[in-house]
Amino acid sequence: MRVVTRFAPSPTGMLHIGGARTALFNYLFAKRFAGRFLLRIEDTDRERSTPEATAAILDAMNWLGLDADEPPVMQSAQVDRHAAVACDMVERGTAFRCYVSAEELQARRDLGEEKRLAARAEGLGDAERASLLEEAGALLAPFRSPWRDGGSPPSADAPYVVRLRAPDGDDQIVEDGVQGTVKVHASEIDDLILLRTDGTPTYMLAVVVDDHDMGVTHVIRGDDHLRNTFRQIPIYRAMGWDVPEFAHLPMIHGNDGAKLSKRHGALSTTVYRDLGYLPEGLKAYLLRLGWSHGDQEIFTEEEAIQLFDLGGINKAPARLDLEKLGTVNAHFIRLADDERLFGLLQPFLEADGKLDAETQERIRRALPFMKDRGSTLVELAAAFGFLRAARPLELAKNARKALSEDGIARLEGFLPELRKLTEWSTASISETIATYCAATGLSMGQIGPPLRAALTGGLPAPDLAPVMDWLGRDETLGRIGDQIQTRAGSGATGN
Ligand code: GLU
Repeated sequence: MRVVTRFAPSPTGMLHIGGARTALFNYLFAKRFAGRFLLRIEDTDRERSTPEATAAILDAMNWLGLDADEPPVMQSAQVDRHAAVACDMVERGTAFRCYVSAEELQARRDLGEEKRLAARAEGLGDAERASLLEEAGALLAPFRSPWRDGGSPPSADAPYVVRLRAPDGDDQIVEDGVQGTVKVHASEIDDLILLRTDGTPTYMLAVVVDDHDMGVTHVIRGDDHLRNTFRQIPIYRAMGWDVPEFAHLPMIHGNDGAKLSKRHGALSTTVYRDLGYLPEGLKAYLLRLGWSHGDQEIFTEEEAIQLFDLGGINKAPARLDLEKLGTVNAHFIRLADDERLFGLLQPFLEADGKLDAETQERIRRALPFMKDRGSTLVELAAAFGFLRAARPLELAKNARKALSEDGIARLEGFLPELRKLTEWSTASISETIATYCAATGLSMGQIGPPLRAALTGGLPAPDLAPVMDWLGRDETLGRIGDQIQTRAGSGATGN
């Protein structure tokens, strides 16, 4: 059997990170078994579904690199097929026309509530209370229609819905790939509606028909659908179709253990892109969020495809931990190809203004050495602040201190040595500093701070020699010269 999985989001909003994790697990499971991963947009709720939400979901899937093996199936395009299956079921006797109206059903539920309340009244005898509770229980129980065994319609043109004839008998059992054996008593399953009075199919019918038609072998989805499974399996059986394997994933909770909400951080997948996470970083984090393999913390996609299994999924809800996401992301930033990383970084670098070609080149050269300076692209872009600063540099307080009279005098002494350099490289600059210190008796602690202040204005930066190398000869001499000129009024230009 060739594995076929699917991700089936409803386009009523963004792609939630819980949804992204479900998509990822389906993707990995399909790849693991050399199967197919499909996408279905469940847009049957016409009022709540929007094309914008569909586009946003596709955008997020694309960003994550979770490409489906076929173009997405739009559920709304399958309604005729759904309706045809319902009619087929009526012919087979596994579904039936039910003439109980929505109003009658509501009246029945209201009466059930009334009796349940009445049973709480004081001064009732035990027998009376028990009988009220029994009547309430019957009225509030999952609905079994009086038409399930046939009967003639109340009138020739009486409106009806088509309902599934729910299973009789005892416990219904699902062997769930994550939850294990799950039981629900048959009486808890209602004669659910398959076609509404206007002939439109319900969601519950559509899911089953589409999963069957798409050849889905494994349904991996959120555990909020676990109970639906008991209403869906009878539809497969009624049609004589193979029932897929099911695996229901526990929810993602916030770090306080409460259900995930906005206050725990971003919920939308693409917001993580805007916050500067790499798609592979977010995926590796989401993978570990609820799945494990030994005590390995970080998996590349290739490793994940080799190792992913349903058995490694945790039964308990996972907790979102943004600090850990940062650690995982930092790891993938370090692994990323330099040119690709530069491309990803560019929009963050240019958030407040385009970069000129020279600055771009400086950043490109520095990037391989600066990759460990941020756990997100936002942080990494900020770490390049010293390369982007425009002359004359604005000085932070600590830089102003380093550029006291003594500091300026040291720069004046050192500047000619730098000017003399014919080959501009990290090694030659480093050597020049060392030779100058040896010749003058100055320590690094004396020459370093004023140099750093002049070159970076006080912004964080790595070692001085590579900083000068990346800035280039002219910019380096210019920045040092600027400080000598403004502070000492000496007229030095640096060039
Ligand atoms: N459309 C459903 C949802 O977004 C998923 C249904 C399913 O996976 O069976 O929750």
